[in-house]
Amino acid sequence: MPESPRIPAPAVSTDPTRADSARGAETSFDPLPSAAGVTLEHGFASRLPELSVPWNAFRPESPRIVVWNEALAEELGIDAHRFTGNSLVRFLLGNALPEGSEPVAQAYAGHQFGGYSPRLGDGRALLLGEIRDPAGRLRDLHLKGSGRTPFARADGFAALGPMLREYLMGEAMAALGVPTTRALGVVATGRSVPRDGELLEGAVLTRVASSHLRVGSFQFARAQGDAALLARLADYAIERHAPALSGEPDRYAGLLDAVVAAQARLVAHWVLVGFVHGVMNTDNMTISGETIDYGPCAFIDAFDPAAAFSSIDHQRRYAYGNQPSIALWNLTRFAETLLPLLAPDAEAAKAVAVASLDRFGAAYNDAWMEGMRAKLGLAGSAGRTAVDDGALAELTADMLTDLQRHRIDYTSFFRALARAGSGDTTALDDVLPHAEGAGGWVDRWLQAAPDPAAMDRVNPIYIPRNHLVEEALEAASEGGMEPFSHLLSVLERPYTAREGFERFERPAPEGGPAHVTFCGT
Ligand code: AMP
Ligand code: MG
Repeated sequence: MPESPRIPAPAVSTDPTRADSARGAETSFDPLPSAAGVTLEHGFASRLPELSVPWNAFRPESPRIVVWNEALAEELGIDAHRFTGNSLVRFLLGNALPEGSEPVAQAYAGHQFGGYSPRLGDGRALLLGEIRDPAGRLRDLHLKGSGRTPFARADGFAALGPMLREYLMGEAMAALGVPTTRALGVVATGRSVPRDGELLEGAVLTRVASSHLRVGSFQFARAQGDAALLARLADYAIERHAPALSGEPDRYAGLLDAVVAAQARLVAHWVLVGFVHGVMNTDNMTISGETIDYGPCAFIDAFDPAAAFSSIDHQRRYAYGNQPSIALWNLTRFAETLLPLLAPDAEAAKAVAVASLDRFGAAYNDAWMEGMRAKLGLAGSAGRTAVDDGALAELTADMLTDLQRHRIDYTSFFRALARAGSGDTTALDDVLPHAEGAGGWVDRWLQAAPDPAAMDRVNPIYIPRNHLVEEALEAASEGGMEPFSHLLSVLERPYTAREGFERFERPAPEGGPAHVTFCGT
């Protein structure tokens, strides 16, 4: 079916402070046929125009859909069968715009590795608008790799490998129950992008998030010196993420509390599953408490608080065990942006902020302890079991010391431990030959009568192990999507053991090169 006639792009923002004020020649778009049944809202674009630039996605000539997330589409009320011709691929690229869509590049600032950048923003990304799902929840529809914007720091494109990586990691995290942004699809653009002296296939990721508001969005708004703008942003964030606070006189302190609590839970979740985000800059920390921007992330094999994989994280600032303290550092930057809204005088505002930030430690510990209690099969059916929090803290500290000392694979350890709880210690003897005898932590744990079946419901067998992800992406870069699809199907059911999938359970063979990740440009 031929494409619908193109409508020229609307007039460009002519803000002289913004470079690149002309949209590229390829930036034109079609309306998405109404039969597709998708409409978007543009609340962010219209209510916070100071925080974005209207912009269009580039239009590749011969794109093709590489992955389509049927389950997520269904959750959003999007039915692929209603898209005619090539309107689905054009929709995923932001070339066929649903009614109500007003694409913008969002502005944000941010601390990157501790250093402040006043102007980051979507350099190669666009917010298409917000979609209301059948359950009534509003979610952002966003593109990554859609061409240069006025915030660009490079070519504006993305390579297929990193976009597939983000898709895969997001799905794996969702299956593990970790709050996360997710991808609706990945489209190969048919254009190559130069990276490190190589030409790679270009791609666009279509991302869904409960919003793209970041700590960096607030840093940018605060730096404008416009208290009304900051309040409008905070009110918008409250509407999206803490609607019960809307209209309350102390709602801004409530927002800070909510973000502190959401991030404490999120980072506890990361640590419990062995996830290292890798680039916890303030522009990569959401207000919603969802994981965002799967650039250099990785899962640990051996338990090691110092584990860091990113090629650019020389100081190990974003190492596995540093994540809670970095989250608090970022939240402190967030609290600073809110100061003018927290109380009329500076000292009082500071006291409100400090009181909220002080709750992070306990919130993190509670979430982590609750998760660890479940991982150890000690949650019991009616709340607390015989092991009180103090005894549990001691037991887990001894256990983690053992894991670290002997470089035990963190994920498979908990499954082996569950088998020991059922009386079969062979797997545990295999992974932990050095466990102490009577009175040691294993002994104390067994005496608490752990529930092995409950453990198997929360301790994954399959995680996106670095070597498996690399293998799948390598095949994809050569056109073979089978390993990617297979790995995805394994990760979608992380707790269910499957015959013949043993390869997916194991860590990378010892003695191989240390895993290194790269930022997803
Ligand atoms: P990140 O490291 O992905 O969080 O990005 C940091 C900043 O660089 C953001 O403003 C991005 O939009 C921008 N950026 C990253 N990659 C590209 C690219 N390929 N083209 C244009 N801008 C980019
Ligand atoms: Mg980012």
